[in-house]
Amino acid sequence: FLPKRLLQVMAMMLSAKPLVALGTRLAQRSSRFASTLVVAEHDDEKLNSITLNAISAASKLGDVSVLVAGANAKKIAEQVAKVENVKRVIVAEDEKLKAQLPERVASVVLASQNQFKFGAIVAGASAFGRGIIPRVAAKLDVSPISDVIEIHSEDTFSRPMYAGNAISKIKSLAPVKLITFRSTAFPPAKVEGGSGTIENAPSSDVSYDKVEFLGQELSKSSRPDLQSAKTIVSGGRGVGSAENFKLIFDLADKLKAGVGASRAAVDAGFVPNDMQVGQTGKIVAPELYIAVGISGAIQHVAGMKDSKVIVAINKDADAPIFQIADFGLKADLFQAVPELTKAL
Ligand SMILES: Cc1cc2nc3c(=O)[nH]c(=O)nc-3n(C[C@H](O)[C@H](O)[C@H](O)COP(=O)(O)OP(=O)(O)OC[C@H]3O[C@@H](n4cnc5c(N)ncnc54)[C@H](O)[C@@H]3O)c2cc1C
Repeated sequence: FLPKRLLQVMAMMLSAKPLVALGTRLAQRSSRFASTLVVAEHDDEKLNSITLNAISAASKLGDVSVLVAGANAKKIAEQVAKVENVKRVIVAEDEKLKAQLPERVASVVLASQNQFKFGAIVAGASAFGRGIIPRVAAKLDVSPISDVIEIHSEDTFSRPMYAGNAISKIKSLAPVKLITFRSTAFPPAKVEGGSGTIENAPSSDVSYDKVEFLGQELSKSSRPDLQSAKTIVSGGRGVGSAENFKLIFDLADKLKAGVGASRAAVDAGFVPNDMQVGQTGKIVAPELYIAVGISGAIQHVAGMKDSKVIVAINKDADAPIFQIADFGLKADLFQAVPELTKAL
């Protein structure tokens, strides 16, 4: 299947050659706008750290403006104005922007784009960013580019495909680039050192009433957030039950680590699904990733293979996880994990 599909894609790329001249014209047109809008993610209390990664990626594309939309946006805007490389903060504060429903935030983004004509509109590749960017792209009639891991120039980017088994380098001909950035591929911008100006967003219609925010259930945890943790201990189906996950939590506490899980562990109800690491869960790249009772399926590996050091504990010597682990221990986790926790 794969080689055939690749041939098809190559054929498509060759037949698209006449578009190059048009692309150059568009690129010339777009180079007038060396300015990028980052759509900030926050919970009306605190800026989400993924926005800092997006700001440092955006600063490679030109001057950075940040849009903060929300019910308590002014407070967040003050935090954002101090972030390095931020030149301007655009604030839209309205009770209707509570929980930042993408339908309503998109309307603020579009009004800002009308006024300031940014060359790129970007966000972190989180549930929030994935909700906004394609929606705005459709309204502006351009193709969005998701999960970018490398910026080659203002119109050329790399992004993973096939669950991270291929990297595609693409050139966007769109007059405005709509991008989500993978947080683990860019360092966070420093939260101090900037002195951005703060101004109100142009007026827009945020009264869209076909959707309504009813409530949310957040899993509370005092452990480090998975996506910014330096160390992560993850458990898989091998852990066996929700009670047994205590072994994983105990080890994580010793290491001050975040706790992740495979989809099998989530599906079996051992832990909630916001702990899932992988293609359909969170993408992480900590200094140290310890996989316990995880076989290393391609979809799990897609979410953690960029970790600096990978340790696997598994009783099956043929488990695929050992192919990517820097250190592997073939052992029963019920013996090895308590021993490790004790030794720390
Ligand atoms: C479209 C799609 C998307 C997916 N997205 C994701 C995703 O985002 N994240 C994800 O994780 N999966 C995802 N999956 C599922 C993925 O294919 C695997 O099914 C899943 O990762 C397996 O989880 P596991 O390794 O915990 O379980 P298993 O594959 O069952 O592995 C359990 C491992 O535990 C070991 N073990 C058992 N008992 C012990 C013991 N006592 N001591 C030591 N080792 C032991 C076994 O040897 C085995 O290797 C996706 C699948 C699809 C089709």
